[in-house]
Amino acid sequence: MVITKAEVFRITRIINCPIGIRIHTDTGLFGDGEVALAYGRASNAAYGMLKDLVPLIVGMDPLDTEVIWNKIYNEIFWTQNGGPVVYGGISAIDMALWDIKGKAFKAPVYKLLGGKNNPRLRTYASQLQFYWGEWSEKGHSWAGMGTPEEFAENALRAVKEGYTALKFDLTQTDEKGVCMGFVRVGGLQSPEVLNRVESRMAAIREAVGPDIDILIENHGQTDTAAALQMAKRLEKYHPFAYEEPSYPSGEITGNIARQTGLPLAHGERLYNRWQFLPMLQSGALQLAQPDLGTCGGITEGKKICDLAQAYDCGVQLHICASNLSIAPALHLEAAIPNFTIHEHHVLFLQEDNKKLVRYDYQPVNGYYEVPDLPGLGNEWTDYAFSIAADYATLK
Ligand code: MG
Repeated sequence: MVITKAEVFRITRIINCPIGIRIHTDTGLFGDGEVALAYGRASNAAYGMLKDLVPLIVGMDPLDTEVIWNKIYNEIFWTQNGGPVVYGGISAIDMALWDIKGKAFKAPVYKLLGGKNNPRLRTYASQLQFYWGEWSEKGHSWAGMGTPEEFAENALRAVKEGYTALKFDLTQTDEKGVCMGFVRVGGLQSPEVLNRVESRMAAIREAVGPDIDILIENHGQTDTAAALQMAKRLEKYHPFAYEEPSYPSGEITGNIARQTGLPLAHGERLYNRWQFLPMLQSGALQLAQPDLGTCGGITEGKKICDLAQAYDCGVQLHICASNLSIAPALHLEAAIPNFTIHEHHVLFLQEDNKKLVRYDYQPVNGYYEVPDLPGLGNEWTDYAFSIAADYATLK
C-alpha cells in the first residue's frame, strides 16, 4: 500500500477553525486527521504546513508510521525545538496514518496500541465558564458565566448529566459573563480580582458538594505571583487539578509546585518528548496534557505518556479542536496505564461542530467508551469539505 495523495482544508466559518487532512492510498483506504490549531491565530500557518509536508510522504507506505514520523522529523529542519505549527502538521498526518493502519488491519486503533487498559474513561465537562449546552439555546456564542450564582447553576447543569468532574477558568469572563478572550492576569492581583475568583469557586463548591471534582484552568495567563495568590484562595476548596498556572517551563512550574499543595496540570503547549522531559523532571506535574493534534500525533503522544509514567505522572490528553479530535484521544487514553481523566470541551456540544464528522461521540453519565470501528472510528463529512474556505489536493 502506498500514499497517493492528500486533501487538506481549512474551515473559517464556525466558531473554531478546524484544519483537516484526508490521506488517500492506492487501495482506496483513506485516513483523516486534524491539526489542533483551530483556535488562537495559527490556522493559516497550520494549513500551509500541511501543504509543505504532504509531498514528503506521497509514495510511502502509510503503515510505516515510525518511518514517516522520523523522515519528517529529520528532513524539514524546523522540528528540533519546534512549535505548534510544525508539530501540528506532523500530528494531523500521523493521526490519519493511524486511521489507515486500523482500517488496513480491520482493528480499532486502541487494539494496535496494545488494547484497553481502561475500558471506561472518566470524563470531565470542560470550560464551564461558558454555558454548558448548545449555544444557540442562549442566542449567542461564547455565552459566559458572570456571577457566582451563574457559575453554580452551570456546574449543576453538567452534574445533572452525570459528570463528576468539571473544569472552569475563573478569570476569563467579567462580572457580566462577557468573555475577555485570553487576557494576561500577571503580577500581584488586586483584592477585587482575587475575591471574584474565590467567590466563583466557593459558589461552585457549595452547589456541587464535596464529592464532585473541580479542575481550575488558568490558560497560562497567570504568572507565578498571580497563580500563587489564586492558589492560596482556592486550596480550601480542594481542586482536583490546577492547570497551566504559568508559562510551560519546568523551572517556573517546579517553583509554583514547591509553594502550593495543589496538583498541577500542564502540557498543551509542549510539543514533543524532549519538551516534556524538563517539565517532568521538575517533579511539578500530576497531570501531563499533550494534545494529539499538536504534540506530534499518536506516535509521539504515546511516547510522551510513557515518559510521564516514568515520573509517576498521570495523563489527561488536551482536546480542543473539531469533534474529529475526540476519537484519537479516546484510543490512546484507553490504552495507556496512566490515564487519569478525559476532557470533553463545551465546543463539542455545538451542532456546527457535530456536523463536521460522521459520528457524534458524546459521553454517557460522565464516561466515554472508545469506538470499536476499524481505525479511529470517525471521519470528516462531505459537509466539512464543502464549507472549507481553503482546500487543496496534493500529490
Ligand atoms: Mg487548558
